Amino acid sequence: MSRTALVTGGSRGIGAAIALRLASREGFDVAITYVRDEEAAQDVVRKIEAAGRRGLALRSDAADAEAASTVVGQVVDRLGSIDILVNNAGIGRLGPVESLAQADVDEVLDVNVRAVFLVSQAAAARMGRGGRIVSIGSCMTKYVPGPGGTLYAMSKAALTGLTKALARELGSRGITANLVHPGPIDTAMNPADGPYAEPQKAGTALGRFGSPDEVASMVAYLASDEAAYVTGAELSVDGGHAA
Ligand code: NDP
Repeated sequence: MSRTALVTGGSRGIGAAIALRLASREGFDVAITYVRDEEAAQDVVRKIEAAGRRGLALRSDAADAEAASTVVGQVVDRLGSIDILVNNAGIGRLGPVESLAQADVDEVLDVNVRAVFLVSQAAAARMGRGGRIVSIGSCMTKYVPGPGGTLYAMSKAALTGLTKALARELGSRGITANLVHPGPIDTAMNPADGPYAEPQKAGTALGRFGSPDEVASMVAYLASDEAAYVTGAELSVDGGHAA
C-alpha cells in the first residue's frame, strides 16, 4: 500500500527538496502546501508525478489557524492517508529586537509555532502505527545566534519542547517525532551569495552553505524504517555550525 507525506511549504527551497526526495527515492505520494507561488508548487507536483507517485499542491496559509485541520483532511481524502508530516513552512523576521513590531511577533509565532502545533495535532489524529512527524528547526537555537535573531530563534526553540512532548505522548501509538536543525542552506530565504553569507560560511566547520538536498537526506532517513527507534531527537545538518 502506498504511503503519503505532507510537506508544508513545499513549493521551493528545503520543502521542495524534501517533497521530491520522499517521492522519488522513498516511494511516498506527496502533498505540499504553499501560499504565493502556484506555478512553483505545480512544478513540484509535476516532478513528483514524473517520479511515478501521486502529487498534490494545496494552497494553505500556515498563518491561518483554521486551515490546519482542513489541509490534513484534504490530504487524507485525496491521497488516502497521512503517514509522515514534515513541518517545513517557516518565515524569518530578522532585525534588532527593538525594531520588531508586534505584528512581526504575531506572524512569526503563527507560522513557525502555532501552525506546527495545529497541523501536528490534526495529523497525529489521523496517523496509524509507523507515523512520523519531522519538524524543521534551526541551528540558531543551539548557539548564541548572530545579531537580529531574537524572534526567529525564539520561535524555532519552541519546536524542541513540542517535539520531545509529542515523542512521549505519541510513542505508545508507534508514532515518532523528531526535529532537524539546518545550518545555513542556500535558498531564497538565505541565499549563499547574499549579504550575510560570508559570516555564516565562516561559522561552519565545512566553510560552506548546505544544499536543500542535504537536509532532505536527513528527513528521508527519519521517514525510513531505519529510523524506527529514533524519536524525540534533535539532529543537525549544519556543516558543524559553532557560531
Ligand atoms: P524559503 O523561503 O526558500 O521557502 C519557504 C517555503 O515555505 C516556500 O515553499 C513558501 O511557499 C512556504 N511558505 C512560506 N510562508 C508560508 C505560509 N505562511 N504557509 C505555508 N507555506 C508557506 O525557505 P527555506 O526553504 O530556506 O526554509 C524552509 C524551512 O527551513 C523554514 O522553516 C526555515 O525557517 C528553515 N531553515 C532554513 C534555513 C536556511 O538557511 N535556508 C536554516 C535553518 C532553518 P510560497 O512562497 O509559495 O508561499
